[in-house]
Amino acid sequence: MAITKEEEQQNQFNGHKDLPRKSLLQSDALYQYILETSVHPREHASLKELREMTEKHPGNMMATPPDEGQLLRMLIKLINAKNTMEIGVYTGYSLLSTALALPEDGKILALDMNREYYDLGLPIIEKAGVAHKIDFREGPALPLLDKLLRDENNKGTFDFIFVDADKDNYLKYHKRVIELVKVGGLIGYDNTLWNGSVAAPPDAPLKDYIKHYRDYVLELNKYLALDSRIEICQLSVGDGITLCRRIM
Ligand code: SAH
Ligand code: CA
Repeated sequence: MAITKEEEQQNQFNGHKDLPRKSLLQSDALYQYILETSVHPREHASLKELREMTEKHPGNMMATPPDEGQLLRMLIKLINAKNTMEIGVYTGYSLLSTALALPEDGKILALDMNREYYDLGLPIIEKAGVAHKIDFREGPALPLLDKLLRDENNKGTFDFIFVDADKDNYLKYHKRVIELVKVGGLIGYDNTLWNGSVAAPPDAPLKDYIKHYRDYVLELNKYLALDSRIEICQLSVGDGITLCRRIM
């Protein structure tokens, strides 16, 4: 069946209306190929269980896709991260990925304003034997970050910080996490390509929530590109992740 120009534009920038897309790749077949060849065979049994449990949850489109989880595990091991933070946990796919990649004495400070989602994933995280690495704190992230910053001893102590919460606060998170990550450490901002909408024409027919947050994502991307305290690398994995290495 032929699709209208509007539908075509929406598909291009926003994925298929009826399918929760987990990739910005133009070809779903290519994405399936990546998952089947390189990702699923390497996915820890507990991650698979958490992913499949989350697939049945109404907020599933928020979950980190497994290829991105694989990237996080690789990054954490490459930089020998020990002390990490995650802002935006949901049911815990990226959290469990991080916990599995960290050494036995590794730590994750996990912030989310909704503990209910975390509680769904927690039994699986416990079964995986990594719950002892996680310090979960419930509440809006900004005041929690401000509290951390009031103690000078926390500054420059994190090896890795993954930011995956409310996009309208990302710039505010950046002002804070840049002080908490160590020089040479890494921050990952998730969803920085925002369903491809960052490159959509201003009048493109976007879903409301995509349209609502797009300007914040555009503003963040511009800011990060000019911030001399970091080196950056924008990857198109998942919904786009911008890696920022603190250099000063
Ligand atoms: N990293 C997760 C996905 C996170 S989804 C995964 O791998 O599945 C975004 C999460 O951010 C939600 O769980 C939501 O509760 C949380 N969130 C939204 N606004 C927040 C805020 N202001 N402070 C803390 N958490 C917030
Ligand atoms: Ca995300």
